[in-house]
Amino acid sequence: MQLADRLARLGTESAFEVLARAKALEAQGKSIVHLEIGEPDFPTPKNICDAAIAAIRADKTHYCPSAGVPSAREAVASYVSKTRKVDVSVEQCIIMPGAKPLIFNTIFALVNAGDEVIIPNPGYPIYESVVNFVGAKPVLMPLIEEKDFRFSVDDLKSLVTPKTKMIIINSPQNPTGGVLKTSDLQAIFEVAEEHDLWIMCDEIYSRIIYGVEFESICTIPGALKRTVMIDGMSKTYSMTGWRLGYGVMPVEVAETLTKLAINNFSCTTTFAQDALIEALTGPQDEVEKMVKEFERRRDVFVDGLNKIDGVSCTLPLGAFYVFPNVTKLGVASKKLAQGILDDAGVACLSGTAFGKHGEGYIRFSYANSVENIQEALKRVEAYVKAL
Ligand code: PLP
Repeated sequence: MQLADRLARLGTESAFEVLARAKALEAQGKSIVHLEIGEPDFPTPKNICDAAIAAIRADKTHYCPSAGVPSAREAVASYVSKTRKVDVSVEQCIIMPGAKPLIFNTIFALVNAGDEVIIPNPGYPIYESVVNFVGAKPVLMPLIEEKDFRFSVDDLKSLVTPKTKMIIINSPQNPTGGVLKTSDLQAIFEVAEEHDLWIMCDEIYSRIIYGVEFESICTIPGALKRTVMIDGMSKTYSMTGWRLGYGVMPVEVAETLTKLAINNFSCTTTFAQDALIEALTGPQDEVEKMVKEFERRRDVFVDGLNKIDGVSCTLPLGAFYVFPNVTKLGVASKKLAQGILDDAGVACLSGTAFGKHGEGYIRFSYANSVENIQEALKRVEAYVKAL
């Protein structure tokens, strides 16, 4: 088949491949604990579902403006103004079918072939994939376990060249659960100012954070003029299948991304945007309950992993992943993750699914019950003992 050349540069997200393999093993009768996919296992809160159902009944089933329904953009503007402590106008906000299209379209709109983009590594694989796709070069900014999976400011400075166009950050982070500090954000902002760079900050886990305050680079005075901030409904409100994300950016960039939307998917599902309004402006107690439960699971998981000989796990401060260090087991991460799935029946991802600095680690999602996490720990421990 003759595909366009550019497709050879497009990567993928192996969570979906592992999910398919785990399902195939299940179809053969094998018991699998699913800890591979990054999706909350809670139902979408009822008030949010009701808002969408009412919208369908009210015939909100037609096209809407490509940047989003005006009242939904207003809800995003006031939510972001409040949570990021910065004044955001409606014109700076756009809604798309998930954070992912915002990531894709932002890189597509702002990065030229031949540019360099600094990305966290290990990191969400879509950044590297899309940067490669547009013909730019991903420059890996290592995240360091000893720094709770933050980066070194000296490393960051040394990675900037005349070709650097953008720095991508993600906090709380997938896959490590690391959370950047004010001083990290300030350093990124200063480097971006000095070299006139774009910042794309992926804040999809902004509300899934434990014991520390979420901080956004957008709060730094002046940062929003060079920043595209991306968040969405998938993780915070357990709405992965609704496909709702939003971005805040300079107005000219919002207009450009709107043009891309017009050329691509026309608009985000109209009635779903009533659910977004309800989620952002309605009661937040379901979110708080979910985050408390995630924290309980995290503690059980980290505790259990640290009891396994040869495994050590840093306490993640955000998101819903643990990223244990498995170097002492002496097996390459990919082989280990495959063995844990095939032989122990626990679906997890190799750290290398998130880039080369993920070697020596594996990622488990704890979007599963404490009982299942305990079962997974038992299975992993037995598997590791038998190595
Ligand atoms: N960004 C990060 C860091 C993620 O982990 C994910 C999903 O796993 C996304 C973006 C995609 O979110 P959405 O479902 O809104 O497209």
